[in-house]
Amino acid sequence: MAVGEILAIGHPVLRQPGRVLSDAEIRSPDVQQLIDDLIDTMRAANGAGIAAHQIGVPVRVTVMEVTHNPRYPYKPPIPLTVAINPIIEPLDDDVVEINEGCLSVPLRGNVLRHVNIRVRYQDRDGRPVDEVKRGLTAGTWQHECDHLDGVLFIDRVTDPATLATWEQFDAHQRAAFVERITAFVARVGS
Ligand code: ZN
Repeated sequence: MAVGEILAIGHPVLRQPGRVLSDAEIRSPDVQQLIDDLIDTMRAANGAGIAAHQIGVPVRVTVMEVTHNPRYPYKPPIPLTVAINPIIEPLDDDVVEINEGCLSVPLRGNVLRHVNIRVRYQDRDGRPVDEVKRGLTAGTWQHECDHLDGVLFIDRVTDPATLATWEQFDAHQRAAFVERITAFVARVGS
C-alpha cells in the first residue's frame, strides 16, 4: 500500500493538461502501481475520486469509488472504477447545481454539471468501456475528468458567494443542499 501526498491548489501540476497513455504504458508496472497508489490514496482520504494529477503525475488516469462516504453521505454508490484516457460527451442540455469539494481544495462550492453523459474510457487492463452515467455519479465523473485537463471545480463555480470552508458549509449550507440533492437523487436514480 502506498498513500501518495495529495497536492493542494497552487501546485502547478494541478494545472497541466494530462498526457494520454498508450496501451503499452497502461500495461506497464509503473502505471499499474500508479493506479494502486491512487486507489489507496483516495480511500485513505475518504475521497469519492482522485486523479493522477493530484499525486503529482499529469497523465489521464482517474479512479472513483463511493461506498458510505463520510465526506459525501448523500452520494449514491459508485463501484471501484479505474478510468484511463476518459472522454465525456453530454447527452442533452439537462444540468444540475451540485455543491462540490475536492481533496486538493479546502473549500466547497456550487457548480453546474450535466445530468446525463456518455463516458468512453479504458479500464486498467486497457479494455475499452462505453457507458452512460447520470445524476451525482455523472457529476463525479465530470469533476475527475476536469482534473485531467488541469481544471479545478472552483473554475466552474458560478456564484463565488457559495464558496465555503467545510466547517461553514456544515453550519450554513449542508441541510438545505442535502435536502435538495436527496430529492434529485431520488428522481434521477443516481
Ligand atoms: Zn478534485
